[in-house]
Amino acid sequence: MHAPTPTAPPRAATAVHLMQVDKAFPDGAGVIHALRSVSLTIALGSFVAVMGPSGSGKSTFLNCAAGLDVPTGGRVVIGDTDLTGLSADDLTRFRRDRIGFVFQSYNLIAHLTVAENVGLPLILGGRRPDPAWQHHLLSAVGLSGMEDRLPGELSGGQAQRAAIARALITRPEVVFADEPTGALDSNTAAHVLEVLRSTAKHLGQTLVVVTHDARVAAAADHVLFLADGQFVGHLDTPTTEQISARMIELGGR
Ligand code: ADP
Ligand code: MG
Repeated sequence: MHAPTPTAPPRAATAVHLMQVDKAFPDGAGVIHALRSVSLTIALGSFVAVMGPSGSGKSTFLNCAAGLDVPTGGRVVIGDTDLTGLSADDLTRFRRDRIGFVFQSYNLIAHLTVAENVGLPLILGGRRPDPAWQHHLLSAVGLSGMEDRLPGELSGGQAQRAAIARALITRPEVVFADEPTGALDSNTAAHVLEVLRSTAKHLGQTLVVVTHDARVAAAADHVLFLADGQFVGHLDTPTTEQISARMIELGGR
């Protein structure tokens, strides 16, 4: 063992840090508290699954953690950047360049080819796609030879794999996915999840996946359970059965 060098620059030990994050939505005359003082640390390079009943705040949590939505209170820190301290423009830039996001409904642009969709985050950021990297990613997600297809010509699994390649094209530090396999049959879901997991692992990325599929969550290092806007427990490297049992306790789907 050796002592830490006192002169070493401080390095964030964690990839994603939420501190007392609140999110309230206006609801008629009142408000809905979708997140209630959520504090959480997600370690660099880990794969975390988030589960909870419908309406428990999973998407709100993910959107706030990924900078897609702004909390009404508290702080979100990714690496050494406090997202809640950024201007709207800086937040957009940070999100585009350093975060990957995979949506349940793929969100591919219909009139752009697979290759154009995948390269889009770089183009929007004023950078040129690196052909070798793009080729590597498309091959990693099993879409080699489909570069010129339009999204309408892809199966659901292929479309989600294209969306995964798009989320990884900027080599983001953290990848967030909101029910990425929710629209897929279970065999396709397992394959798509494995592509996401293995690519993130290979790149050393932190992966945060919201899912209601216990089999998907069982691939994670940690499973966090959300109920009524608060984290109410976690399981480390659980089995599918342990996850299902906890979900039944929470009254989940
Ligand atoms: P989950 O993803 O776990 O199903 P959500 O995060 O989507 O849950 O929603 C949590 C709560 O916040 C729900 O009560 C939902 O109705 C509410 N909510 C989410 N988004 C909005 C919004 N944009 N406006 C108003 N209420 C919202
Ligand atoms: Mg949701």
